[in-house]
Amino acid sequence: MNTINASIITIGDELLIGQTIDTNSAFIAQELNKAGVWVHRRLAVGDVYEDIWKALDEEGKHSSIVIITGGLGPTADDITKPLLCKYFGGQLIVNEKVQAHVKYLFEKVYRRPGALLERNLKQAEVPDVCTVLHNERGTAPGMMFGPQPNGTVFFSLPGVPHEMKGLIVKEVIPRIKALFQLPVIVHKTLLTAGIGESMLAEQISDFENSLPPTIKLAYLPNFGMVRLRLTTQGDDPVQLEQKMQSYFEQLQLAVQQYLVTNEDEGLEKVVGKILLQQNQTMGLAESCTGGYIAHLITSIPGSSAYFKGSVVSYSNEIKEAVLGVSSSTLQTEGAVSEATVREMVSGALTSLRTHYALAVSGIMGPDGGSEEKPVGTVWVAAGNKEKTETIQLNLRFDRKRNIEMTAMHALNFLRKFILANS
Ligand code: AMP
Ligand code: MG
Repeated sequence: MNTINASIITIGDELLIGQTIDTNSAFIAQELNKAGVWVHRRLAVGDVYEDIWKALDEEGKHSSIVIITGGLGPTADDITKPLLCKYFGGQLIVNEKVQAHVKYLFEKVYRRPGALLERNLKQAEVPDVCTVLHNERGTAPGMMFGPQPNGTVFFSLPGVPHEMKGLIVKEVIPRIKALFQLPVIVHKTLLTAGIGESMLAEQISDFENSLPPTIKLAYLPNFGMVRLRLTTQGDDPVQLEQKMQSYFEQLQLAVQQYLVTNEDEGLEKVVGKILLQQNQTMGLAESCTGGYIAHLITSIPGSSAYFKGSVVSYSNEIKEAVLGVSSSTLQTEGAVSEATVREMVSGALTSLRTHYALAVSGIMGPDGGSEEKPVGTVWVAAGNKEKTETIQLNLRFDRKRNIEMTAMHALNFLRKFILANS
């Protein structure tokens, strides 16, 4: 079986100084992977002539497909287009179709008054040695160079993520599929909670040792949970699927007591699926997460079927006034206490009228901790009208990560509560 290798080169000083996070590579890698292309290298270079040139030389030698993003803007810092023109030995010429598209965008879509700027019209110049890829979402066209004599094909795309994505899906992937005979890549992913990656590795070592060399197992820990991914590739999709399914079932058995989901999805999706299945609803009382858990839940399309809302009760005043937490509890136990989150759950159940409620209250830092309740102390409660259960977390990260960890632990706690009490 033939592996087709790809390289992704992202261009822009903003990537190197960390001002922009390189999300383009991740998207392109996912799309290539789905199509059966193996991304074996990703690199970022600045808007520097020699560096871009060298990257093209290097990646062109080792990859059948090289995808470049960035450096195609109308400003002087973007130098990719003339460079590519020189690199592939062409001349810049005006492409009439691109020019008409640029004019259309400025006049009809952006509705910018006055004449077009010279620098915008320049967007319609392309090297005469490339195939132009239509960018319906912006002025800078995509470009395909090759296949070159050694078989390598280069794609250059604008850096703007929204434009790049359109070009990848509509122009680049279909051309790659037409040019190369691609294998099928199959991934199967599950999520575990309640066990660290080292212990997990011990637990499944027999299974891991039984895997044929054609199937790779990856451990992907995050937020105190571990994702396990099996990957293989081959020619026959049906046969591959069968073989993978059998190993995947063995893996699920081996991690049974820690298994959260056997799909590549987050906890917010898992909780939503359980509620949908049971035709039940949930609500939140969030103090230290400030609405973040509600944001996660409502990122899932269709969440309105089971999610009613969140009371972001950041102050004691709102805990009392909206959720009915008693002032004596707040005074004697404090806002970050088991008693408070219990009363928050009860208040959320009443005011949001849901089957389940989840409450969190904690100290996210960097300030606000005490000897008794250091930064990272969090109380979580999940309940229904019969009972409420609580758990205390002791986190040790920065503010942002403490909030994310609280959300993940709380969602997992709610998941377990619903499963145990339905
Ligand atoms: P450019 O094509 O270089 O003019 O890029 C336009 C804009 O796209 C930049 O200002 C960045 O905000 C964004 N961008 C460029 N490269 C990337 C990347 N690899 N990942 C995410 N955003 C990017
Ligand atoms: Mg740039």
